[in-house]
Amino acid sequence: MHPQFKCNGCKGKTEFLWLEQLDTPEGFKAYQCMSCGCVGVKNIAEALHIPDSSIDRCIKCGGWQFLGSGCHTCALIGA
Ligand SMILES: [Zn+2]
Ligand SMILES: [Zn+2]
Repeated sequence: MHPQFKCNGCKGKTEFLWLEQLDTPEGFKAYQCMSCGCVGVKNIAEALHIPDSSIDRCIKCGGWQFLGSGCHTCALIGA
């Protein structure tokens, strides 16, 4: 069972294969879409199996974040 995400490439809800060998900032992971094959980096809070009750939108950047853990997107861009 692979994590499911909404893909930026094919716009579908698809299974993603994590590319663990790639270095990514905390809170993000590199993936390959198993449907269209596109490669990118995803905020792990965007995984579709994570209930909406455990995430919310960052008020600063609008990105998804885990409740109480701070925004990884803001940490990444240094805001
Ligand atoms: Zn795709
Ligand atoms: Zn943010």
